[in-house]
Amino acid sequence: MTMLGCMQDWELRVTHLIDYAAREHGPREILTRWADGQVERTNWAGVALEARKLAQAFTKWGLKPGDRVATFAMNHHRHLAAWYGAIGCGGVIHTVNIRLFDEDLIYIMNHAEDRVLMYDAQFQPIIDRLKPHLKTVEHFIVFDSDDSYGALMRDMDGAFDWVMGDERDPCMLCYTSGTTGNPKGVLYQHRSTMLHAMAEIAPSIFDLSCASVLLPIVPMFHAASWGLPFAGAAAGVKFVFSTTNDAPTLHKLMRDEGVTHSAGVPTVWLAMFQHLDATAKAGGDAGLGKLRLVTIGGSAAPRAMIERLMKQGIRVAHAWGMTETSPIGTMGAPTPDWDDLDIEAQIDIVCKQGRVPFGVELRIVDDEDNVLPRDGTSSGRLQIRGPWVVKRYFKAEADAVDAEQWFDTGDVSVIHADGTMQITDRAKDVIKSGGEWISSVELENAAVGCPGVAEAAAIGVKHPKWDERPILLVVRKEGATLSEADVVNYLAGQVVKWWLPDEVLFVDSLPHTGTGKIQKAELRKQYKDYELKALNAA
Ligand code: AMP
Repeated sequence: MTMLGCMQDWELRVTHLIDYAAREHGPREILTRWADGQVERTNWAGVALEARKLAQAFTKWGLKPGDRVATFAMNHHRHLAAWYGAIGCGGVIHTVNIRLFDEDLIYIMNHAEDRVLMYDAQFQPIIDRLKPHLKTVEHFIVFDSDDSYGALMRDMDGAFDWVMGDERDPCMLCYTSGTTGNPKGVLYQHRSTMLHAMAEIAPSIFDLSCASVLLPIVPMFHAASWGLPFAGAAAGVKFVFSTTNDAPTLHKLMRDEGVTHSAGVPTVWLAMFQHLDATAKAGGDAGLGKLRLVTIGGSAAPRAMIERLMKQGIRVAHAWGMTETSPIGTMGAPTPDWDDLDIEAQIDIVCKQGRVPFGVELRIVDDEDNVLPRDGTSSGRLQIRGPWVVKRYFKAEADAVDAEQWFDTGDVSVIHADGTMQITDRAKDVIKSGGEWISSVELENAAVGCPGVAEAAAIGVKHPKWDERPILLVVRKEGATLSEADVVNYLAGQVVKWWLPDEVLFVDSLPHTGTGKIQKAELRKQYKDYELKALNAA
């Protein structure tokens, strides 16, 4: 007979998180700033009660363990209650990305076989369009409607015991943005979600405690808002949610509510800086209140952005991850010698994507799958494994990992001797010039440091001699008049000569994906047959 350890059996179920938050941090505030400007306040005890009422209703409607409840919503406390309610009745919360095209939305919701769909009233026109095509949805709930969500809350008393089960049961479903082919579903487990949440609160990751006031700008439909709705419960934070992400609203919330922690993609901060500059110019207060930790991820955080925040005394944590990794893969945090470094050296560190937390492992491999050294120069395909990394996509027939569980991320990176990972590019975005690789990410990051540049995208276009050469598409800041020569001269001080773009084209805007990333595939398509002027002239 095998011998078992003699400790209490406690399945790592997500419902323990909401129970803990409600019991130990019940009065800790959770608030939502709705689009009409109204601020609604509840707390962990309130969210837990709403979650029980929802779980009670779902069970009444016949939802069985494993059944999917979809949400189509912005960040707010009712959305949070929906997560715990769906999971609490043994179901799976499926957060649908509101920014996708109709055909993707229809595909995703039918593929997920969602039985309930909860949405914000502002999306009614989209839901009306989708409805005839949704084959499995039986119940529709409007979050911000007194006749719908409100009535449900009145009808249920919340006398409901969470459905318990195995920690390897599924609890959440997120689809990848699907830039190529159909979107793929990643089905998280209770166990993977719990381990990830417990890892996230650490000082070197999100640094959360019950004293934290957390404003997640990253949407709840993007990689589970980076797991913050779970980690926030494990820490008992005060949550500040906003259903709109315009800079003036976020700035006001940060100051009014004493926000200490925020997390979002880089574009959010570009808009914020413009707002802060305008505020300062008009004689207003451009301070960021009590903000002390900003986590930036989803795409590479440009140096100029990191520098500006750090020079205001705010710690910047640069995160790398993907939907497939729950999503935390790496996070930047102060190093042991941090206090001995000058600010420029500290910024150098933060520009890299950081180190793995305990729980996941990284490696880089070359085209023949040989493992490359952690020397800071060898660049290869980044692979990851660990208990919160995908094994197989939802309903797929084969695993997405190799025999040793390594998942190939599609990113290209180097790993430094101390384990710090630095993304060089998406494998498909690298510009291949004369057999050498030019990192589009580095070019873009350098370009957005140039005064007058709001946003930039580097892509490779065909070249008879070099195979590909980079061009840079630039959106000027409002009122800026910079020329092609200004940009190239600036870049000449930042990157090696052969990396300089052959042309800089000014455009009004760049296409973005549903999660705020520049759509490089779309740009490559648009400029597929672009002829460089120098070649034309020759
Ligand atoms: P998603 O699953 O939509 O979050 O996309 C994941 C992808 O975003 C990764 O594979 C990376 O290509 C990219 N990404 C995420 N974080 C970073 C970062 N800090 N720097 C560069 N790329 C990033």
